[in-house]
Amino acid sequence: MQTITETIPLPNSALRESLLHDRFGRVFSYLRIAVNERCNLRCIYCMPPEGVDFQSKKELLTTREINRIVGVASTLGISKIRFTGGEPLLHPHIVSLVGTAVKTPGIESVHLTTNGLLLRETAEALRQAGLHGINISFDTLDNTKFKTITRKEGLPVVLEGLELALMLEFPDVKVNVVAMRGFNDDEITDFVELTREHPLTVRFIELMPFDSHQIWKTGKFYQAEHLISDLTTLYPDLTPVNGSSTEHCVFQHPGYRGKIAVIPAYSRNLCSGCTRVRLTADGYIRNCLYSHREYNLREILRNDGTDREIADLFKTAMWNKLADGWEAQRRGEEHRESMTQIGG
Ligand code: SAM
Ligand code: SF4
Repeated sequence: MQTITETIPLPNSALRESLLHDRFGRVFSYLRIAVNERCNLRCIYCMPPEGVDFQSKKELLTTREINRIVGVASTLGISKIRFTGGEPLLHPHIVSLVGTAVKTPGIESVHLTTNGLLLRETAEALRQAGLHGINISFDTLDNTKFKTITRKEGLPVVLEGLELALMLEFPDVKVNVVAMRGFNDDEITDFVELTREHPLTVRFIELMPFDSHQIWKTGKFYQAEHLISDLTTLYPDLTPVNGSSTEHCVFQHPGYRGKIAVIPAYSRNLCSGCTRVRLTADGYIRNCLYSHREYNLREILRNDGTDREIADLFKTAMWNKLADGWEAQRRGEEHRESMTQIGG
């Protein structure tokens, strides 16, 4: 488990600060919250077929605890919230979580990452609750391949969910595609073509080594740099455009309504501009996806901790963030079995 390095104490000046920042001058404004661990799919790069050792409900943060954390985080300069999981649409109070976050002073936008299976049922309520952005994950447009990668059926339902999200005009609709050699490298153009008519961003994400079966080691890794080179060979007219800080390279084809982004999730060449804080479903703060070091917020919440104590733990966690994800990985062994426990 968590063997590592000492905690570097926060200097008084940093304790007094109202912003979350670290020793390298990075300021953190984006909180990703995993609201659960369970999922209705079993993507091969995320979970084994039998699932992982899911924690019991009482170990996971409650709706009330999540709302409280959002409130305290907003006083620390967090302005963007993303709900993820597990599958966040399986959470019985996801609409209320979104609505409360939207109404929290200081929160400027609330987003959600979902596999889309339950989107048809929930999209309208989420839109009404004020959800700004929705990222829908599917790695293929082929039904048989969908079953291979997720071990379940459901692509047509996911695509209907996407269509509904577009119809409801969520301000920010994205499609998350984990790019894998020998699996979907022949579908790049099909995904790019989604941006011809639709104002959405297709994000090709590098495969990361976050599953206990290490699918990552089976030759499927497709590096961002190679992806960009293949994309620009297929579409020589692609033009670089501005995207969010987590998007390595964003392009648009002239005349197409949407955008294409490439996310170097494994290559980690965006760490110097990182703005993210992560909260696991069981209430631990992670200052980096690749760090095994976690900070127990649940303990504070369940021992009558004050808002000040919650804020100070956020500050300490972020102050201790290492220079980049490579350094964080070098410092120890991952103890979580799956991305579903961290939230991606
Ligand atoms: N269940 C939701 C979904 O799939 O969108 C939210 C949670 S999922 C862990 C968040 C994102 O992480 C998804 O876009 C998923 O494709 C991505 N992901 C999961 N495991 C990954 C891996 N090993 N490498 C790269 N991306 C991964
Ligand atoms: Fe579920 Fe998302 Fe993991 Fe797939 S990536 S198994 S949809 S949590």
